[in-house]
Amino acid sequence: MDRVHWFAMRTRHELETILRRIDGRGYKAYKDLRDQYDFSRYRLSVDHVQGDPFAAPSRVSAVIAASDSGFPSQLASTRPRRIAAADFLTRVFGCTAAAVSRGNRGTGGSGRIEIDCGGQAVLERNSCQVSSQQIEIRFTMGLPAAGRRVLGRQAAAMFFEELPRILEQVLFFENLPQAELRQQVETCEDQEALRRQMAEQDLVAFVADGAILPRRSGVDDRPLGGSQAIPFESPEALRCRLSRPNHGPIEGMGLPPGVHLIVGGGFHGKSTLLRALERGVYDHLPGDGREWVLADASACKIRAEDGRSIRAVDISPFISNLPLQRDTRRFSTDNASGSTSQAANIVEALEMGSRLLLIDEDTSATNFMLRDGRMQRLIAKSKEPITPLIDRVRELFESHGVSTVLVSGGSGDYFDVADRVIQMDAYHPREVTTEVRRLVAQHPSDRQSEAPAAFQPVAPREPLPAGFDARRGKRAVKIEARGRDTILFGREFIDLAQVEQLVDTSQTRAIGLALHLLAREFLGSGHSLSQGLDWLEQRLDQEGLDALSPFKTGNLARPRRFETGAAINRMRSLKAKIPQ
Ligand code: ADP
Ligand code: MG
Repeated sequence: MDRVHWFAMRTRHELETILRRIDGRGYKAYKDLRDQYDFSRYRLSVDHVQGDPFAAPSRVSAVIAASDSGFPSQLASTRPRRIAAADFLTRVFGCTAAAVSRGNRGTGGSGRIEIDCGGQAVLERNSCQVSSQQIEIRFTMGLPAAGRRVLGRQAAAMFFEELPRILEQVLFFENLPQAELRQQVETCEDQEALRRQMAEQDLVAFVADGAILPRRSGVDDRPLGGSQAIPFESPEALRCRLSRPNHGPIEGMGLPPGVHLIVGGGFHGKSTLLRALERGVYDHLPGDGREWVLADASACKIRAEDGRSIRAVDISPFISNLPLQRDTRRFSTDNASGSTSQAANIVEALEMGSRLLLIDEDTSATNFMLRDGRMQRLIAKSKEPITPLIDRVRELFESHGVSTVLVSGGSGDYFDVADRVIQMDAYHPREVTTEVRRLVAQHPSDRQSEAPAAFQPVAPREPLPAGFDARRGKRAVKIEARGRDTILFGREFIDLAQVEQLVDTSQTRAIGLALHLLAREFLGSGHSLSQGLDWLEQRLDQEGLDALSPFKTGNLARPRRFETGAAINRMRSLKAKIPQ
């Protein structure tokens, strides 16, 4: 492609002139910067100017034509490649800015040059967009001030010394670490290819030999270092072989659809394996240790979440005959118990189309998981509202095609319902299904199966737009992520702390905006939650994350439908209808 035509653009020299002119004036004078500037081989665009040095920093972007960048079209020829390459450029910008930019140049956020980088997962984000035509990178600058007085010379240093040094590294292919870029693009492409093969070969999960599952700590998602981590090694019986377009064949543990039980002593690595599978719905960086750990894209972590709100969910397959005749076919509460929350989490996951449930006894409600033989004898079924998961998990698979991977160190009763049992033994998985079958024959469980009626397909609910009110005070729309865990949506705080497959604050931010878009443009007129999520995915596929915001932003990352739905399901203002 030839050079992009930049229309009505100011020169770089004009930017210098403006900064000189406004030096020493009130902060509002920075508003004059809002425009596009020709930096000869790339274009700089000041998209939004902050109101004061303490406000959210100004949004700036740079665009370069692919021909000027030298970026090979082959690295941008497919969607997974473009996403991986854009993620890489974002990270290069982040590292370079940290090294090059002086940072503090006055009051508040003055002097900062930052970009919205991801963690260990490689997600579609709008901080950078790579196409075969051009590369666009979006970042933020804290326009410098002393108090509220413009520091024009400091700003000039940022625009003409620091920023060009950063952009040189990011926008020109010859300056990029090309081997690492290729490695990231090829690794992500392989992960996509493996997920497709898993579907073809009927696998719901895959953990490669050599994978490093443990993380450095509960707050550090990077791999546990060096010799401390024991690499994963598949049990023979579950070993399978897949092929990667860029990295050749790979072997590891493949789980077919079914009910899988992970057992083993405490501290032997059960939860770590499950957590890696939870994250296996996302691509990971080369060297993460989990780049070849993959789960069905619809996998949902299910846990107890007492205190959450529930709106019109049919939890009757698990809970019926509550005291005071509360209807559990359209169950609502502002304060769910452990068992009702876990039941709702399963039913909602099914409603959104999940084919794989991931459950850890560590974060489950005991009475939701099991009622043992002795308890059954003491408390008659007629006095127990709960049908525990143990009596539904096979039915979920056999009648609904939904598989489960369940971690359980405490209840051998689950042996009866598992297709496969894997023991974690000092971080080494062993397949112990045959042993378990023998045990079951020798020591039958004394509990009765007690599901009262068949688990019916989940009835779709229709969320009503009236429940989505983004107004707050004088503002017509106030939507914000308060960290990864919370969305401020109008007057409501949506609590996502227990939604464990949400991995990035930028996803949280995107979800907040997505709810507003859905309510404004799609919900109502008889559309179900699941149809709403389909519609949203289509919009995002077609238009990218920019579909979510009327302004140009660079801090959104793509959420899965399940986390977007999870936010809707946790809105305390949600109004949902179940059609008759
Ligand atoms: P469990 O759920 O079986 O009780 P966890 O999965 O919580 O055990 O693991 C216990 C500890 O062992 C954690 O600190 C975890 O980081 C560590 N760990 C897990 N897997 C490995 C491994 N493959 N190599 C080294 N340490 C591991
Ligand atoms: Mg555990």
